[in-house]
Amino acid sequence: MPVSAEWIRQLPKVELHVHVEGSIRPETVLRLAEKNGISLPATDVDGLRHWYEFRDFAHFVEVYIKVTECVRTVEDLEFVLREFIRGQAEQNIVYTEATYTASTVETRCGIPFAEQLGALQRARAWGNDELGVDIQFVLDIVRGDRPERAMQVMHWVADSLGQGVCALGIAGFESRGTIIYREVFAEAQRLGIPVTAHAGETEGAWSVAETLDITGAHRIGHGIRSIEDPVLMRRLKDEGVVLEICPTSNVCLGVVPLLSQHPLPKLMEAGVAVTVNSDDPPMFGTTLTDEWIRCAETFQWDEATILRLNETAIEAAFLDDEAKRSIPRPSRSG
Ligand SMILES: [Zn+2]
Repeated sequence: MPVSAEWIRQLPKVELHVHVEGSIRPETVLRLAEKNGISLPATDVDGLRHWYEFRDFAHFVEVYIKVTECVRTVEDLEFVLREFIRGQAEQNIVYTEATYTASTVETRCGIPFAEQLGALQRARAWGNDELGVDIQFVLDIVRGDRPERAMQVMHWVADSLGQGVCALGIAGFESRGTIIYREVFAEAQRLGIPVTAHAGETEGAWSVAETLDITGAHRIGHGIRSIEDPVLMRRLKDEGVVLEICPTSNVCLGVVPLLSQHPLPKLMEAGVAVTVNSDDPPMFGTTLTDEWIRCAETFQWDEATILRLNETAIEAAFLDDEAKRSIPRPSRSG
């Protein structure tokens, strides 16, 4: 039986891979740019959407940084965070692990990390109290950053773990490799810090294998190009690695030509654990709800499949067993 969009909308959902800065609403990007005297190549929402037609990953990063730079004060940041959490709540996303690049916000926006952390924690508490949804943050290293800077990010995570921050991440240009951060991730493992790592998006299976080796992660952001290597596919299955898949993002950045050609169903058939996520929703013209609707239509998923993948996300969340049990579970219709 086909799944109704309404059932997907009301479903209590969990999201593991979405970026705070990549989720800023276009109207808010424009307002902050104007308020802070930042010139963008667009002055209205349509223009911004046109600017979000990405040529490739490098172009995407360029736009992403420019959008991040529109945030200039801790008040701006808190506004963006609350708006993000409200957007999650409106989709009935009851629990979110959102990636947030504190190091870029410190260097490019001039907001010291301690102030950022205060904003993250206040916004989270507000979301809990006022909207009844929970969020935790993954602070990520940007590939290309100096290892000393990456070590500092790791220490930020270590010092704020369990206080709104749940893990260390790594993103940015995969081609720059992960090896130079070997000591950072060794230290993170020694301190018991959970890790999730982007890999296998713009680079092939080698990048996923290297990232798993170096970071010790059991969650990989994207990872879809693992499909190119049967040995790696077996490893993902055997080690129970969970892929945070962002289907529309992959289409928008040209990693796959069409959603119907996305390797998601093949990864599932091979027994690799997958979850569905939105990545940078307004930049890719999507929402988590839309991702589920598009996947259900394109891959002929039924309710049971969606419930199973949502459960995979709960299982893979950086939460203890009691917290996982307390997440509201959806029910099947009819
Ligand atoms: Zn991402």
